[in-house]
Amino acid sequence: MKYTIDKNGYYGKFGGSFIPEMLYPNVEELRLNYQAIMQSPEFKNEFQYLLRHYVGRPTPLFFAARLSEKYRAKIFLKREDLCHTGAHKINNTIGQILLARRLGKGKIIAETGAGQHGVATATVCALMGMDCIVYMGKLDMERQRPNVERMRILGARVIAATSGNMTLKDATNEAMRHWINHPTDTHYIIGSVVGPHPYPDMVAQFQSVISEEIKNQLQNDIGNPYPDYVVACVGGGSNAAGAYYHFLNDEHVQLIGVEAAGKGVNTNESAATTALGKVGILHGSKSLLMQTEDGQVIEPYSISAGLDYPGIGPLHAHLFDVGRVQFINATDDEAMNAGIELSRLEGIIPAIESAHAVAALSQLTLSEEDVVVLNLSGRGDKDLETYIKWGRY
Ligand SMILES: *Cc1c(COP(=O)(O)O)cnc(C)c1O
Repeated sequence: MKYTIDKNGYYGKFGGSFIPEMLYPNVEELRLNYQAIMQSPEFKNEFQYLLRHYVGRPTPLFFAARLSEKYRAKIFLKREDLCHTGAHKINNTIGQILLARRLGKGKIIAETGAGQHGVATATVCALMGMDCIVYMGKLDMERQRPNVERMRILGARVIAATSGNMTLKDATNEAMRHWINHPTDTHYIIGSVVGPHPYPDMVAQFQSVISEEIKNQLQNDIGNPYPDYVVACVGGGSNAAGAYYHFLNDEHVQLIGVEAAGKGVNTNESAATTALGKVGILHGSKSLLMQTEDGQVIEPYSISAGLDYPGIGPLHAHLFDVGRVQFINATDDEAMNAGIELSRLEGIIPAIESAHAVAALSQLTLSEEDVVVLNLSGRGDKDLETYIKWGRY
């Protein structure tokens, strides 16, 4: 069983590069160079230096004693919420901006839905003194005002996408169009393990630092690098890919992916792609996505903006297809309750995305000896309004 891309950029049946011809030179330049750049000692040194001294890595692996008592298992939290800017996304944006510089690019573009990837991109552009344009749906800009202002404070230009539903899909289209028109001086930083090859593989490698650290930390803490379970939420799938990466070939480690069921998998207001999706092409790769009979992308829904995505990356489609990852889902209410529970039991208010992973604990059949690592992808500060509106605490 293989869980890495083949020479054509496929994970089993999924992946590849389905892009307009005009974009081909940009993606090809990246494809031909990314491995050599990422493997050079000079790149590795700079990446590792910034992860350590700028992002704050390694992030702690925290034994959650009260949560463990409640679920009768040994539960560890991987604290990605303690990364600079509050989530795992910065691991990827640091990696990609270092790559962009080595490709001689002076300008960066990105798309963003809720604004978290936009903020992580604007942050590294400020750090590197690079021009930054973030495309964001006009509707999303109204819904996520604080993140728009964060990006502006950091010096980025935020451009409203006014086509279609004026959300993430439309922002992505505008970013692609911009890239086609500025091929030589611009790099497009994609925010998850999605997009045309080589993005899914590149982003997964940048995020793989998460499982590399988990292995070392478990070895130190319990004398065994292998947990029984790794649990992570899945939007596009980057935090999950990072948390699974170095365990993929250790088949005795059970990998659990948690998708957002929204108001319920059968309500038409959901983002549970593996439960509802079919094979199709989205954002340049073949994967699973939520679509109508005639192939129109269905607008996803989740209370959590970061999980509100109609597909999953091709790696996850493959892991689902071959049964390596067990996908489950949690509703808005289950996630919100789990977020409050973690706050009360451990003094950690999680991002609502991460709260979906916490909600999975009650769906697993655990025993006292089981070691569970839960990837806490982000902190709840950005979600305070949503917690307040929900109100049940
Ligand atoms: C963006 C985001 C996610 C979802 O994205 P993935 O690529 O699936 O990781 C999850 N958690 C947080 C905190 C996020 O900001």
